[in-house]
Parts: sequence; structure tokens; C-alpha cells
Amino acid sequence: MDPRFIATSNDPWAVATSYLIAAFASYVAIDLARRVRDRDGRLVARWWAAGAFAMGTGVWSMHFMAMLGFEAGIVIGFAPGKTLLSWLAAVLAGSIALAVGARARLTRRALVLATGPIAAAILVMHYLGMAAAELVPGIAWDWPIVAASAGVALGTAAAALLIFFRLRDPRLAGRWTLQLGAALVMGLAIAAVHFTGMAAVRMPLGSVCISGDGLRGFGLQALTGTLTFVLLGAVLLTSIADARRRSEGRLRSSLQAADDRLQRLAFVDALTGLPNRALFYDRLEHAGAQHPGPSGASGGNASTPRVAVLFVDLDGFKPINEAYGRTAGDTLLRAAASRLQQCARAGDTVARIASDEFVLLLEDEDAAAAALQMADRVLQALQQPFSTIGPGVSLSCSVGIALHPDHGAVDVLVERAEAAMAAAKRSGGGRWAVFEGRMAGDVAEQVTLQQELRGALARGELSLHYQPKAHAASGAVNSVEALMRWQHPQRGWVSPAVFIPLAERFGLIGALGDWVIDEACAQIARWNADGRRCQVAINVSAQQLRQSELPARVAGAIQRHGIDPLQLVLEITETAMMENIAAQGALLGELAAIGVRLSIDDFGTGYSSLAYLRRLPVHQLKLDLSLVQDIDRDADARAVLHAVVQLAHALRLEVVAEGVETAEQARILRSQGCDLLQGWHIARPMPAAQLLPWLEQHERDRGVRAPAVGTQSTAAVTAQPA
Ligand code: C2E
Ligand code: MG
Ligand code: MG
Repeated sequence: MDPRFIATSNDPWAVATSYLIAAFASYVAIDLARRVRDRDGRLVARWWAAGAFAMGTGVWSMHFMAMLGFEAGIVIGFAPGKTLLSWLAAVLAGSIALAVGARARLTRRALVLATGPIAAAILVMHYLGMAAAELVPGIAWDWPIVAASAGVALGTAAAALLIFFRLRDPRLAGRWTLQLGAALVMGLAIAAVHFTGMAAVRMPLGSVCISGDGLRGFGLQALTGTLTFVLLGAVLLTSIADARRRSEGRLRSSLQAADDRLQRLAFVDALTGLPNRALFYDRLEHAGAQHPGPSGASGGNASTPRVAVLFVDLDGFKPINEAYGRTAGDTLLRAAASRLQQCARAGDTVARIASDEFVLLLEDEDAAAAALQMADRVLQALQQPFSTIGPGVSLSCSVGIALHPDHGAVDVLVERAEAAMAAAKRSGGGRWAVFEGRMAGDVAEQVTLQQELRGALARGELSLHYQPKAHAASGAVNSVEALMRWQHPQRGWVSPAVFIPLAERFGLIGALGDWVIDEACAQIARWNADGRRCQVAINVSAQQLRQSELPARVAGAIQRHGIDPLQLVLEITETAMMENIAAQGALLGELAAIGVRLSIDDFGTGYSSLAYLRRLPVHQLKLDLSLVQDIDRDADARAVLHAVVQLAHALRLEVVAEGVETAEQARILRSQGCDLLQGWHIARPMPAAQLLPWLEQHERDRGVRAPAVGTQSTAAVTAQPA
């Protein structure tokens, strides 16, 4: 201790409070650094001003509080003018730090260039603040320590910039803890500048403070501290409220964007960019309304045909697809699509409705002549070699033509054109055929099939096969989808894609549906008895949803078989759900009230609005295979997937991906956060008897076992209702 100078000390309470203020101010400043720029990187003036004001005041107040707690055995007061200027310097430091630290890119140059001015402003605040205590004779500075305080200020400024820059990413994991930690460190750095500066002060014995009647005293200290805390708290709360408002706004606008994408997807074929089936039928219906012929008329002379449908099917596409691979197949389909489009006249519609099936819609005074000309052009165009696929690759096509009103109402036109195409193909392909009555064998066949289906249930030809749904992260399986199978004595396995629409058309779906509900519940009970409590999803058709007794049927089956309602999932297609939403709202509610889970099937093929899903009592969303199948090849498909998964999760829906065929698709789906995966990559649908052995093998291979469903402990396996 040098005897020439007064012994000084710091009031510990003032030191502690001033540190807390510095840390709090840092926390608020880090929070604001996130809002200072909008998404395009422009400075948001009000947040910048509020941030500079809060941060500057906080830092200044830290310093001023500590100064008020500085004890030297003489009365020390502060001249108001210089004190005010020192506050301004602190606000200036804050404004530079926030403007630079919140830039889109923090280059080394910007960091170096900004650090100096910020540190300078901090030092000005500090030393000007000290000069506000007007001492006679002046302070005998310890210059090496003054220099050290400048070094600490530089370090503090650089650290603040880096922290602002690093912590403003809203997706940062553990952001709040990081922010708290960073604030505590930044507070320490700010306090260090002050106390290093104070360590450089040496007051000669006999010093007098001529501003002793200026700002001073405990009351002022308490007031400054309280006001600063209130100010910082208010700014922080406003900032948090603003963040919440913005994130809600973002959710709303991304819902809108994803809806728009889905709408587009609902009408456009993703591969070729042509209109898809839905849009084609829409146009066809419109054309029918424009040219209403005698409906269902057949035989030529009713009136001049006005509408023609050409059904174009590529001959030999499958072998090329297999020989050259799917990517080449896709290229070929795109090329074929563009050739067809070149054939079409303005006003014609060309659409792709299935893998290698295209349809054209023509409206013409003399649609018959126009259709024949078009058929010739199409045959010509598709005969040209597809040399981009490989040397000498070429194929032909078969074209079927149906006219309205000659061959019937517009709603049967595609079916009839297809029958004509099949006839053209049967006679060797590479030609066109116009529909004739005898080609309608299909229709008669449907009637036969329908009669056989009526007896199928009684004869025990129907069964349920089960396809596992695996948890994306662990691979564990505790849920399956029941898919109906019809083993026809002569035809073999008939696909549900064939007989379900038939059953719907001929009023059989009620009986089939009831059988499925009962059989699935019985199977769940059998598996329960075997110690396998899993969840089984059944498909419910649009027509079943129109039966008001459906909830009672479901509840009855659950009770009869003594199973937990949580074990049953009802898959309802998106379209069925949306079609009669007003009428079904209550029915869906009743089903949910039973305790069964509701799942939206084939999501992405209909027109539903994601925003609308918020209001439905559904738990799960199944992405249609069309949304899944291109994700390994198409960035657009991945973007849609990403948006849909994010939003489904925001609506607290569990997401299942259907039709997962490859490991690559599974990997992408997993990384996008899908909850469950279903598809041939995991397993094909199998009879009930094969499921348990399969599960055991699967668990041995993967070393995982999923918890049982329907017991108390596993309610968390399924997502909570939205
Ligand atoms: P869905 O409910 O969307 O069922 C998924 C379909 O995708 C099933 O076809 C399944 O076998 C098939 N699938 C599964 N994994 C893959 C894969 O990796 N790749 C491909 N390409 N396909 C895969 P399935 O069994 O032919 O059933 C077709 C549709 O028939 C079902 O579509 C469902 O809508 C309907 N359906 C099936 N069983 C029933 C039922 O019991 N009642 C009702 N109302 N409809 C049913
Ligand atoms: Mg399904
Ligand atoms: Mg589906």
C-alpha cells in the first residue's frame, strides 16, 4: 500500500448488484440480437434502438452502481453532465455491437473493425463516468493498469459480437442454457472492464471531490438498480412476446405454403408436369357440361360428337424400365409426355393418369375426325427413337378412342377409351381403335365379379393380411395394418384395389367392412392372449363413414372381444374425410370418443387443407406412397415431405410413411422425422399366422422389442390428439 495515496475499497453489495445487472443486460441484449434484423437481413430500427437503449443502459448502470459503491473515506459525488455523456457512450457501444453482431455474415474484417469502436465507447463511458467525480488534485493514474483495462474492453467487445452472432440461430439446440451461460460470462467481462479501470485509480492523500454535492447516495443507487431491472425486464418480455407472435405467424404462413404445394401436387403429375387424373376428370366433367348429349346414348347418329377421349398406353414400356432402370424410365416418360404435348392443339388437355398411361381430351365440332387425326399424330410421334435412353431404343403405343355422346356420357369415356386401347393392344399394338359395344366386356365382367364377391364372405374366401409399421428410429414394431385379401377359387388373389371399389359401387362394402372390424378385433384379442399387445389399423371406406351406426359397431366389437380401444386404429382416406366433412364431423368425434385412434390415409392425394386438420380429432397422418416414392430422386418431393412432416408435428400428429421400398427412402424419411415406416422395405403384408414368427425374427435381428400397446405405460407410443 503506497502511503502517498488514500486507501480505497468497493462495497461488496454494490459489486454483486452491478454484476447481476451486467449479466441481465447481456441476456437481454443476446435475445434482442436475434430480432435486430429481419429475414432479409435488414435492420429493424425499433428493435435496434430498443436493444441499444437497454444494453447501453444496463452496462452503464452496472458501472454507475459500482461507482456509487466506491469508498475512499471522502464524500464522492458525480457531476450530472458528464454522467449523462457516459450513459450516451454506453448506448453508442450497444448500438454498434447489435448492428454488427446481428449481420448475416460476421467476417473477420467486420469483427476487427467493429471491436475497436465498441471498446473505445466502453472506455469513454468508464473514464468519462469517473471524470464525473471531479477530484482535486487529479487522479494519479497507474498507466499499465489503464492499458490493461483497454485490453479487457477489446476482449469484451469481440466476445459480445461473437456471442450475438452465434446465439441468434433460433434452431440452436440448448439455446436457453447457452444464452444464460453466455450472459453470465459477458456480465463478468463487462464488470472486469470496470474493476480493472478502478484498479488504476490512485487518489493522492488530501484529495477533495468538488462535485461532492452532485449525484450520490444509497437512494440513488437503489433507484438506478431498480429502474434498470424494470427496464431490462420490460424489454425482455416484449421481445419474448414478439418472438411468439412471429413464430405463430410463421406457422400460419408455412401452413399456407404447404397447402399451396399440396394443391399443386393434387392437380399436377410430379414426374411430367402434365395435369394428373384429378385435373383431367375435372376438365372432362366441364366438357360434358358444355356439350350435354343425350346421356348414355349409344349408336352413332344422336348428334355430332363434340368430346373425344384418347387413351394412350406405351407398348413395351415395362421391359425398357427394367432393362435401363427407373431413372431412364422416368426420362422416357417425360420425353413421351412432351411429344404428346406437341401433338396437342391449343385447348386440348394431355394428362398422365398412371405409370405409362396418358389421356387426351379433345373438344371439337367434329370430334371423331379430330380424334382420328390426333391418334395418327400420336402414333407417329411416339414411334421416333428415344435416343437419350440408349441407342436404338424405341417403342410404340396403343391408342383407344371414345366419343361423347356416341359412346356414352363423359363419366364412362375414359373407361371406354381404355377398353378400346386394350383391344388395339390385343391385336398387336402400335395402332388405334375406336370403342365398340363388344369391347365393354369389362362392364359385364364387373357384374360377374360382384356376384362372386357376394358369396365370397360366406365361403370364407376373404381374409386379412397384416403389414408391419416400424418405428422409424428404433425399427421396433408394435403396430400393423390389416389389408383385405380375396382368394378367388379360379382367379387367384384379387387385389383390394379391384374389389373394394366394386364393393362400394354395388353396395357390399357395409357387410365387408363389418366383417373386417370384427375379424381385426378378434385377431387383436388372440394376439393379446399370446402376450403380443399390438395395435391394428383397419381401413374404413367413405361409404362406411356415411353409416351412422358405425361407432356402435366399432364399440360393440371392441367390447365383445375385450380389447383396449387404443389397440384399434381406423384409417380413413383423406378424400373420404374431407368429402362430407360437415356431415361426418360428429361421426369422427363419436369414433374418437370410443378411444380408438383415427388416421388419415393416403394423405397427399386429395385436396385437404392442412390448416383444416387442426379441427379434426385425428391422431395420425399417413403419407401416400406417391409422396414417398420420389423422395430419393426429386428435391421437390423432399421439400413437400419436409413441409408436411413439420406441420403434422406442429399439429401433434404422428406421421407414417407408406410404400417405403428402399433403404435410401427409409433413411431420408427417418432424417426428416417420420415416426413410423410401412412398406416392402420393412415387410410385405402377411397372413396372421406368419406375423408372430416374423416379429420374433425381426426382434432377434435388430435386438429391439417395442412396448405393448394399450397398457397404461405405453399410451405415449401414439401421439396425443391434436
Ligand atoms: P392403403 O390403405 O393405402 O394400403 C396400402 C397399400 O399399399 C396396400 O395395398 C399395400 O399392400 C400396399 N403397399 C404396402 N407397402 C408397399 C410398398 O412398399 N410399395 C407399394 N407399391 N405398395 C405397398 P393393397 O393391399 O392392395 O390395398 C389397396 C387399398 O385397398 C388400400 O390402400 C385400402 O385403401 C384398400 N383396402 C385394403 N383393405 C381394405 C379393407 O379392409 N377395407 C377397405 N375399406 N379398404 C381396404
Ligand atoms: Mg390404409
Ligand atoms: Mg394408404
